Amino acid sequence: MRVAIIGAGIAGLACALELEKLGITPDIYEQRYKAGDLAPFSAAMLDINLAPVDNQLKHLEKHYKLKLQPLNKIKKVVIHSPNNKILISGRLGVFVKMGQDSDSVQQQWISKLQTRVKFKQHVDYFKIRNKYDRIVLADGSLNIPIQLNIYEPTFKGWVRGAYLTGNFEPHKAEFWLDREFAREGFGCLTPFNNKSASLVLQVSGITRQELHDYWNTFINKIGFKTVSTGYFETEFQTGRLKKHVVDNTVIVGQAGGFVEAIWSQGIYSSAVSGIEAARCIVQKEDYEKRIKHLVKTNERIYNLRQRLNGLDNNGLDLLLKMFKIPGVKQLAAAGSCSGIKLISRLITGISGKEDRENVF
Ligand SMILES: Cc1cc2nc3c(=O)[nH]c(=O)nc-3n(C[C@H](O)[C@H](O)[C@H](O)COP(=O)(O)OP(=O)(O)OC[C@H]3O[C@@H](n4cnc5c(N)ncnc54)[C@H](O)[C@@H]3O)c2cc1C
Repeated sequence: MRVAIIGAGIAGLACALELEKLGITPDIYEQRYKAGDLAPFSAAMLDINLAPVDNQLKHLEKHYKLKLQPLNKIKKVVIHSPNNKILISGRLGVFVKMGQDSDSVQQQWISKLQTRVKFKQHVDYFKIRNKYDRIVLADGSLNIPIQLNIYEPTFKGWVRGAYLTGNFEPHKAEFWLDREFAREGFGCLTPFNNKSASLVLQVSGITRQELHDYWNTFINKIGFKTVSTGYFETEFQTGRLKKHVVDNTVIVGQAGGFVEAIWSQGIYSSAVSGIEAARCIVQKEDYEKRIKHLVKTNERIYNLRQRLNGLDNNGLDLLLKMFKIPGVKQLAAAGSCSGIKLISRLITGISGKEDRENVF
């Protein structure tokens, strides 16, 4: 069987590794000269978002035989609202490196591949789709789903990030929720180690020009004094797909809407969507059935993000205040109750509006 994978990102590489295990050598096309985002950043894979999966790394290894070496464990998460902050401690997840460095997720996985990636080859999906038995579309973009008319938009906006050097706690992630600079988004600081970190601001519904003003407000408000050695900016667009299989094509990763809408970098769901695509292609199983749990989890997270977006700065302050109620923080950190369920109930308490989707 001739299989082509378009894109050697998280989803494409996870799919390729699984296809090899199942005896298929795919053609892997990647437009860059090397796999991975151009700017390195530290991604927080937070486990509190993803119930019933309570340890993404272990789950990937045990159920999908996909190993990933993290940078560090996340033991503390600090969440700031305009006038409040909370600290959650526990086994909260891991930081992983994204990008082109040898310890990045992309380079770790590419080093395990037998097949050679065809780098510097930007392929046109519509031109190659009839040349293969199956195509795995893993290009990290919604362009093709939009053209195929199978896409519904959820968020669109801009991300700006900086690579910082200074002194950092390597096990601590910090998040900022503030309508003044993050609107329907968030700011986050995620360390690589004790000497460097990435600082990212993600804002929905704005233009690139507006991003700079939001960024300056962010930096001024959080009073960052460390040295920045580089910036990156990227547009992001997320959406849900009406279907993930079109003729001979399976759509995976960010292209398939497998993103996590609240401060987790979509690595787990992108990788699993790629692996399941490989298994379904070879074992001729129903892809939609196999990814139903991912779609459901992502939908819950998206719902929660929508509900968070409905809170103004006072509501965000109040939400964090509620985390100080004895036992609430511990529940969130222990994974005994999913983070989604818990936060959703707190928001219900603030807004007075019940959310049917999140009533468990
Ligand atoms: C700063 C930052 C913050 C992020 N925050 C979040 C978040 O909060 N939640 C979330 O879910 N995700 C987030 N992401 C995105 C996250 O990294 C992706 O969800 C994840 O990488 C998905 O992987 P993918 O394989 O689908 O796509 P990608 O990793 O983007 O890989 C796609 C690959 O396809 C290649 N390609 C594209 N078109 C072609 C073509 N025509 N021919 C050949 N190759 C092609 C690209 O060069 C790329 O290497 C963030 C990303 C960044 C940079």
